[in-house]
Amino acid sequence: MSRMRMKAIVITTICATSVALSAQNPTIRVRATRVVDGTGKTLANVTIVVQGSKIVGIEASGSGTADYNLGRLTVVPGMIDVHAHVGWHFGPDGRYQPRGTTPAQEILYSAENAYVTLMAGFTTIQSPGQPNDVELREAVARGAFPGPRILTSIGQLNESSGTPDEIREKVRQLKRDGADVIKIFASASIRDGGKQTMTDAQLEAVCGEAKAQGLRTMVHAHSTESVKASVNAGCDQIEHGVLIDDSALKLMAAKGVYFDPNVGVVLQNYLRNKANFLGIGNYTEEGFSNMEKGVALNKAMIKKAVATPGLKLVMGTDAVAGAHGHNADELVERVRQGGQKPMDAIISATSMSAKSLNLDKTIGTLAPGYEADLIAVDGDPTADITALTRVAFVMKGGKVYKNVSPSTMHRPLQVQK
Ligand SMILES: [Zn+2]
Repeated sequence: MSRMRMKAIVITTICATSVALSAQNPTIRVRATRVVDGTGKTLANVTIVVQGSKIVGIEASGSGTADYNLGRLTVVPGMIDVHAHVGWHFGPDGRYQPRGTTPAQEILYSAENAYVTLMAGFTTIQSPGQPNDVELREAVARGAFPGPRILTSIGQLNESSGTPDEIREKVRQLKRDGADVIKIFASASIRDGGKQTMTDAQLEAVCGEAKAQGLRTMVHAHSTESVKASVNAGCDQIEHGVLIDDSALKLMAAKGVYFDPNVGVVLQNYLRNKANFLGIGNYTEEGFSNMEKGVALNKAMIKKAVATPGLKLVMGTDAVAGAHGHNADELVERVRQGGQKPMDAIISATSMSAKSLNLDKTIGTLAPGYEADLIAVDGDPTADITALTRVAFVMKGGKVYKNVSPSTMHRPLQVQK
């Protein structure tokens, strides 16, 4: 082969490769008049440049073309819900259905929940968790199926999980099964009084082994004693905390443990949809009366939590059947009831929650090098937090899943009968 011909082939190959690459990774330019970056900064009149799944630049917007001009909408990072039960659903008769449906029905209910959650602006959720979360997580990760990035605990450990040695083996098994996080029940449900259920030795076994395996831990705990035992056992994150006092809040802050109070969605959803749950398991009249009291207790607790210096508040809803797609109500209530500053609520739902998932180099911030997970909302959420409930545009990993005019937006039904 002549030298000239060889050169021609090489050039052709390079051209073909670069054409294929740019076809796979077209540059998308998103212009916005207001961008809240997830770390506390607000940028005015910028163009976010996206290539493939990532943000590659944020430019002062000149007169160049934009693929999406979001006008008066505010762009924020895709929100994160660190506690959403994506598989929980009402059955065909409208009743909460923990079992009794076919595997195909189960996964389709999960898929519906994943879809409405993504449409509500949540591009990452952590599910604590059920076995078919793994299939859902993989389906979303393949790229064609609309849903948030999913992390899952697959199952839960509790006081019946055995001796410390048996518990350690269960943690290792969950890791082999592909768990992203370990979910633990250190206290009873609020419907059953919320007292500590696992022993200190069991808690040390689960959180100690998880740490040794490189897994994070999230602990359901309502009472002060159960929160303190979990923090002292080296667990990473506490859920709920309806009954806790100042000393538990201060201990979490001192130890750098994340706190995920769920004050705006879960109990309100249970009360609103009482008829769909009542009579199943511990969803009794007494359980509902405890949940009603819980709403008031949460109100006092979130005020104290917001006022606790150094406490790392992450954004989780504990969304169950009926609550999916209403996740941002949590932030509205944290601001309304707890007095949290809207900007702090936004940081909590983006960069802070990303940090709690060890994903703070990947998601939760709008900056070059991060995944292009961004949403646009109707209004300025730093002044009016309810803007986060009006999501008009959703991009996840550089792909646009929603782009509607604010006037045509609708939210899923709050009551399902
Ligand atoms: Zn939960």
